[in-house]
Amino acid sequence: MNTLFDKIWDAHVVDTIAGGQQIFYIDRHLIHEVTSPQAFDGLRKRGIPLAHKERIVATADHNVPTINQDQPIGEPLSRKQVMMLTTNCDEFGVELYGLGHPYQGIVHVIGPELGITRPGITMVCGDSHTSTHGAFGAIAFGIGTSQVEQVMATQCLLLKKPKKMRISVDGDLQAGVTAKDVILYIISQIGTGGGTGYFVEYAGSAIRGLSMEGRMTVCNMSIEMGARGGMIAPDQTTFDYLEGREFSPKGQAWDDAVAYWKSLPTDEGAIFDKELNFRAEDIQPMVTYGTNPGMGMGVTERIPVESKIHGAAGLDKAMKYMGLQKGQPLEGMDISHVFIGSCTNSRIEDLREVVRLVGDKKVADSVTAIVVPGSQQVAKQAITEGLAEKLEAAGFEFRQAGCSACLGMNEDKIPAGKYCVSTSNRNFEGRQGPGARTILASPLTAAAAAVSGKVVDVRKF
Ligand code: SF4
Repeated sequence: MNTLFDKIWDAHVVDTIAGGQQIFYIDRHLIHEVTSPQAFDGLRKRGIPLAHKERIVATADHNVPTINQDQPIGEPLSRKQVMMLTTNCDEFGVELYGLGHPYQGIVHVIGPELGITRPGITMVCGDSHTSTHGAFGAIAFGIGTSQVEQVMATQCLLLKKPKKMRISVDGDLQAGVTAKDVILYIISQIGTGGGTGYFVEYAGSAIRGLSMEGRMTVCNMSIEMGARGGMIAPDQTTFDYLEGREFSPKGQAWDDAVAYWKSLPTDEGAIFDKELNFRAEDIQPMVTYGTNPGMGMGVTERIPVESKIHGAAGLDKAMKYMGLQKGQPLEGMDISHVFIGSCTNSRIEDLREVVRLVGDKKVADSVTAIVVPGSQQVAKQAITEGLAEKLEAAGFEFRQAGCSACLGMNEDKIPAGKYCVSTSNRNFEGRQGPGARTILASPLTAAAAAVSGKVVDVRKF
């Protein structure tokens, strides 16, 4: 009896060496402009070629502007990073979906939508949120720059097998409660260290009931509880999403692949090192009040006055940065910015939900609200479906694809001291720009905040 994780892990072990470390084979390697330059430099200095350039896919996402992408990038550092990626991919023969390419976008959005991400594979990227791809029943995790070079040179990593945790969410989600609320709730319950040392499998009827987009949102934030990665067993929802995608297997290869994928789910009775169980009915729309994703609460609740998980000093520091008081509610609080985007919530389903919720309402005069599609393909589809037009008519800025205001590494920053309801995954100090104050939430809650100018309970909206 084996778990999903064990089945894939064991199939990728090349050798076990003294001390228990294992040489672990990597099927797909995604790279972007931030963590690849040093790795390419390292190979160049040592005169080593890429072990399998056909297994690498590159895109530009972190440093790209989200307006005027046909013009040279304004910020000098961003321009340099993106140019280096282009130069390195040219020199080493790596497939690059750079600016202007129809497949360009956030690395964790393009992998799944192109059918590069598949069940049963191992996948890495020099980026924490690589855990997103685990939604397909893959072992996917972020690696450091030196490991990026290691994979480029050998297609392998030297690793110790993590422990296994299963987190089950059973029952029915309330109306207005989304996958984002589920994962924010789990992290608020176990803290940012609750998954440390584990690879998590999400299970239970509420998880099974999620779309692939929702499953990606859940797995995306696994890293925010300290887990090495997150995964969900492949099923018909997975197969339906992947069938016909650009790089998905076709014909007999598709049938063979599906037959293999069906053998992957965890066997009845398989043992996990740790099991956690939650009830879907207990989850309400979530908002964060502090400076890590574990500092989250139901939108109708008040900021805790004490917290075992965060400690008194941690809570005080967070309150000071956020300009909030312990015991204060967030519902009804004024906000000035809304960001709908990032690898957590920038897919077509997220945009459809936002448009559905906004209806014929308008963005409040006091709010700057931007919607940033996760990829060129999402943008194209949003335009084709009329979503972009409706968003602009409602007063949202509909931008071009990229990481955007998820992190202050490009031109899209939130001004110091301003409150931004954001669908991204991190609310660290300065994450959206120096002094910016981030309230993490679902696309529905963010859209409701945009038209209300306040933090609101989307269930009453
Ligand atoms: S959207 Fe944010 S979290 Fe995702 S890859 Fe880009 S910077 Fe990282």
